Amino acid sequence: MINVTKPYLPNIETYKKYIDAIWESGHLTNNGQFCKKLEKKLCDFLSVDNCIYVNNGTIALQIALKTLSGNKNEIITTPFSYVATTNSILWEGYNPVYCDINDSDFCIDSSKIEDKITNNTVAILATHVFGNPCDVEEIEKIGKKYNIKVIYDGAHAFGTSYRNQSLLSYGDISICSFHATKLFHTAEGGCIITNDKSLIDKMVLFRQFGHIGDNYLSIGINGKSSELHAAMGLCILPEINNIIKKRREISEIYDFELSSELKKPIMKFHTNYNYAYYPIKFQDENQLNKAVKSLNKKNIYPRRYFHPSLNNLPFLKENISCPMSDHVAETILCLPLYFNLTSIDVKNISKIINYSL
Ligand SMILES: *Cc1c(COP(=O)(O)O)cnc(C)c1O
Repeated sequence: MINVTKPYLPNIETYKKYIDAIWESGHLTNNGQFCKKLEKKLCDFLSVDNCIYVNNGTIALQIALKTLSGNKNEIITTPFSYVATTNSILWEGYNPVYCDINDSDFCIDSSKIEDKITNNTVAILATHVFGNPCDVEEIEKIGKKYNIKVIYDGAHAFGTSYRNQSLLSYGDISICSFHATKLFHTAEGGCIITNDKSLIDKMVLFRQFGHIGDNYLSIGINGKSSELHAAMGLCILPEINNIIKKRREISEIYDFELSSELKKPIMKFHTNYNYAYYPIKFQDENQLNKAVKSLNKKNIYPRRYFHPSLNNLPFLKENISCPMSDHVAETILCLPLYFNLTSIDVKNISKIINYSL
């Protein structure tokens, strides 16, 4: 069976050495040596000054949103993302205001954001879809002009750089997910990145229930990760460039083999891509369904991602139309892409898809 993804597993002996050290120290969690070390190594890898390691990407989003102040309650967001993006907004008591996406890279359409701004807008939460950068310059301008915060869901952005800077260094706050299915992972995990020093202490405090020792300073949540999770990250991080290289090679085979009828996201200039996903866009849902059926018959399971478009979620107060996102969600498919996927499999998958068109 071939699934859309498969977690990367480091050498088990390397991991066992960390486990031995954890046993030795008896320290399992609460910002232990490996959590701290991972944060340091992530700062080095991403060339950022601060990185707050947390237990998953969703908590990272919630902690980021928790820094917003005042009683404005609207957050402009993208309908084309994983459900956690919208859910974190709702969970924190805000209203998501959907702004449609563009048809080249499927990120939020920056030219449509200003129309959505009201006196109640407090922030923009946009996703770097499949690791492709949003229009960060334009979004920053809008944020400054209206004095609203810009937060990026960079769950896919690890390893992508834009204008020679990690994509995660953009915005007032960026988050990443280190879930097992992501490019870089710690089984479960995530991080928060910001250049705003005033926010760092605040978010670190939120991560640990809002108290330092016996000083209860603010509300908080449990966003801490464990030494066992951090150890996984410390094993994988040194291999990340090799992982990205391998994914690039696989993607290039797809590029070569797949019919040119299929559309792919168009990368912005100045982007050094991380090859986090391999999405293809069909002409219509029928054509997509045919391809999926042919692949499933051969035990190959690509993923309709993202689907549905979030503006259509059944638990929203109202469902507004976002025609581009609706269309993309209906016609996009992410193909298998992971470290151990063989070139024979990639060619075979491409052949099955081409034949189904
Ligand atoms: C995976 C993902 C998340 C959630 O991350 P978790 O670590 O699984 O909580 C949020 N947003 C996007 C776009 C994702 O792909």
